[in-house]
Amino acid sequence: MNILYEKAYAKLNISLDVTERRADGYHDMAMVMQTVSLADEVEIRFNDTGVVRAATNLSFVPGDERNLAVRAALCYLRAVGQEGQGLSIRLEKRVPVGAGMGGGSSDAAAVLRTLNRHYGALDAEKLEALSAEVGSDVPFCVRGGTAFATGRGEKLETLPDMPACAFVICKPGFSISTPELFRKLDQSSARCHPDSAGIVEALRAGDLPGICRRMYNVFEDIDDRRLRTVKEIKGRLLDFGALGSVMTGTGSAVFGVFRPGTLPDEAALEALRRDCGFCETAVCVGRLN
Ligand code: ATP
Repeated sequence: MNILYEKAYAKLNISLDVTERRADGYHDMAMVMQTVSLADEVEIRFNDTGVVRAATNLSFVPGDERNLAVRAALCYLRAVGQEGQGLSIRLEKRVPVGAGMGGGSSDAAAVLRTLNRHYGALDAEKLEALSAEVGSDVPFCVRGGTAFATGRGEKLETLPDMPACAFVICKPGFSISTPELFRKLDQSSARCHPDSAGIVEALRAGDLPGICRRMYNVFEDIDDRRLRTVKEIKGRLLDFGALGSVMTGTGSAVFGVFRPGTLPDEAALEALRRDCGFCETAVCVGRLN
């Protein structure tokens, strides 16, 4: 039997800005994004059921068309004239769900890369254009590496790689609803913005402290009780020697950036794991497509 394997790498937001609320209800974003080594495992088996389904190790993640991996597969099969091809997709979820790490989007992207490797039907540009139909973060997850994302997140400019560094990623036990955070952001009058141009310049200069100093996520300033926990975790990561710390996406995951070889020791990581529920280390992953 033909089985295809791929990793679905998580993303982190080095910065996140919301620049405008558009007439169509979406928001214009400006984000420096980074692919990291924390990943779900994706396995695709071809079958003759005529149906595309996913199964995961997490009972609360749906296996039907609500699953972005299934939606991505159906979208790809339609685009290349292979409707009716049955697929069984197995997702071993390691990226926490509802963390702002693009877990679902990265599964979708892994499915798109894998099916395109199998059928060889689309060039990189067409695959990215198709992936935008599945979700705003999917084009970045398809491409990977370090990029500046604008529009709803689907317009990408590849940036120089992050200088060598390591991440500690923590996720507290709660998730924060994305629509709720956007609603609260729309209601708030004043807003600080990240220095995105400064981050891009620091990336070009290979200046890790310069990048870390400028990391900022506009959602962190919203008045929400849960964001206090996020701030506490950031404080702990900085105490452990992180050059900078920020929430990714709409949370609730928070990460710290460390120089290589300066990660907190195992006891410190274990303490973070005990208090937050989830704590893992990761490194940068370069361009994927
Ligand atoms: P983002 O960073 O894009 O905002 P997130 O990390 O906050 O995403 P996800 O982990 O992608 O959030 O999951 C959010 C919701 O999407 C969950 O409620 C889940 O049921 C649904 N979902 C759909 N497909 C998947 C998938 N393949 N993996 C995980 N969740 C999925």
